[in-house]
Order: sequence, then C-alpha cells, then structure tokens
Amino acid sequence: MSKPESSADCIFCKIIAGEIPAEIVHSDESTLSFRDLNPQAPTHVLVIPRTHHENAAELGSRDPAGLAAVIAAGAAVAEQEGLSHGYRLVFNTGAGAGQTVFHAHLHVLGGRSLQWPPG
Ligand code: AMP
Repeated sequence: MSKPESSADCIFCKIIAGEIPAEIVHSDESTLSFRDLNPQAPTHVLVIPRTHHENAAELGSRDPAGLAAVIAAGAAVAEQEGLSHGYRLVFNTGAGAGQTVFHAHLHVLGGRSLQWPPG
C-alpha cells in the first residue's frame, strides 16, 4: 500500500503546508525544522520529513534517503544552535515511548546537561 504524501488531519503536515505557524530554524528540499512548542531543553527543535510517515521506522523502511536527510538536518541544526558540547537526537516511536504526533520527527535537544538513562 502506498503512503499519502500528506495526511489531512496531521498537525505537522499543516506546518509544512503553512497552515499552522511555527518558528522555523532550518529548511531544505526534504525536511523542515522548527522549535518545539513545549521545550525540554534550551535548544529543542523538531526535524520532520516533508512527506508523511507515521514514525521513524516507517520512514526508514519506505524512504531511507529521507531518514538520512532528517538526521543530516538535525546535525545542521545542532551546529547552527552552537551545540558543540553535545546534543541528543531522539525519535519517540509508539505511544508507549511517548510519541504523541504520528508524523515522524527527530527531537534535537541540547544546551544543558543531559542525563542517561533518559526517563
Ligand atoms: P512526541 O511526543 O515525540 O510525539 O513529540 C511531539 C512534540 O511536538 C512535542 O514535544 C510537542 O511539544 C511538539 N508539538 C506539538 N505541536 C506542536 C506545534 N504546533 N509546534 C511545535 N511543536 C509542537
């Protein structure tokens, strides 16, 4: 079954379409990066693919180059944000892991000390 390019009721598809505002910090042909509304660190940016996939695993299996582009954009955001001491890239996958928006997204977190293991 082929996936739709976008999903009508998806909040992140609406950000890509410009229908919902976001503070965009990076953009390229296959990704968009914007600040999280509820930041968990001084830098908390979400990187999303421009096409709709439910989660990172689905993106990786259907569009491996798209997944690579999301990670490359995350690294570009980290450099742009000055996160030279380190940063964390997170894909929450599934409701049990805290995923609340079902359009694949990479969290880029940094600007403070990050503990391990995460909660
Ligand atoms: P997750 O819980 O991994 O699915 O992450 C979803 C993230 O999207 C959360 O950190 C929310 O704060 C964030 N979020 C939800 N709606 C928006 C929005 N309109 N603009 C920016 N961030 C959002």
